[in-house]
Amino acid sequence: MTATATTSPAVLAVDLGGSAMKGAVVDGAGRELATRTVPTPDQDVVAGLTRLLGDLSGLAADAGATPVGAGVVTPGSVDEERGVVRYASNLRWRDLPLRDLLGEATDLPVAVGHDVRAAGVAEQLFGAGRGSDSFVLVPLGTGVAAAVVVDGRVVTGFTGAAGEFGHIPLVPDGEPCPCGQRGCLEAYASAGALTRRYAAREGRVLTAEQVVAALGSDPTADRLWDEAVTVLAQGLDVLTILLDPQVIVLGGGLSRAGARLLEPLTAKMDDGLAWRDRPPVVLTELGDRAGRLGAAVLAFRAAGRSDLDQP
Ligand SMILES: [Zn+2]
Repeated sequence: MTATATTSPAVLAVDLGGSAMKGAVVDGAGRELATRTVPTPDQDVVAGLTRLLGDLSGLAADAGATPVGAGVVTPGSVDEERGVVRYASNLRWRDLPLRDLLGEATDLPVAVGHDVRAAGVAEQLFGAGRGSDSFVLVPLGTGVAAAVVVDGRVVTGFTGAAGEFGHIPLVPDGEPCPCGQRGCLEAYASAGALTRRYAAREGRVLTAEQVVAALGSDPTADRLWDEAVTVLAQGLDVLTILLDPQVIVLGGGLSRAGARLLEPLTAKMDDGLAWRDRPPVVLTELGDRAGRLGAAVLAFRAAGRSDLDQP
């Protein structure tokens, strides 16, 4: 135990994305004592991360807490056991021993995890997956992935690449995907796809939020949204048939469309299923805090403490 009588233990948690590093100081009850978000630097991301962890350490002290560990989650292919980021295209990382680098820099036990899988851990402990041993979290952001929780465990797969739900090819000879395949789910049903497909048709760049806001008054927005929802429903039906989840949790920017997403999506999922019922489809409760709360859980584990106390 490193905590003294006057301070409580906390961890430093960072959700590292291609554009922002979202940091928080999290206590043993899963509460965020302080947060700090900074842009992801173009060069030397590890140095930027080290600085952010230093800042968070100061914020922890201000909040009367003692850091006992740190957790960082990243996109890409992550070997959580060895703390190595195998490949993260947005960060231009390959086989980076991030846990060891940050451990030396911070002198704390460090955990490195995958952003979406960690978000699944957080939703299971604190969010919409609470009390469920089998559920799927699908963040619909610039891209699309899934945290697949089966019998209480987040599935990582043989090479650590499980859950690449966005790259299931669903549309034969469909749109090219940046991954190199064609017809991937995320080439239709992601914020990035909506922006790209709208610009290709109308010659104007709209954010996914603007496309959603234009529904009902802009036929191109209506058509692209309908196609996105159709492909997403197909993909979620595949997951349902394969995994039999208790609940499907949707997160990411597109989930903020709320009923404009859920109503047509669940209707199309029902149309696609004949012999079994659809599981409930709900929205994330943790929103974009899920990744860093998941990083906090991993950090407490790295510090040799059990999971955070469930509130
Ligand atoms: Zn793809």
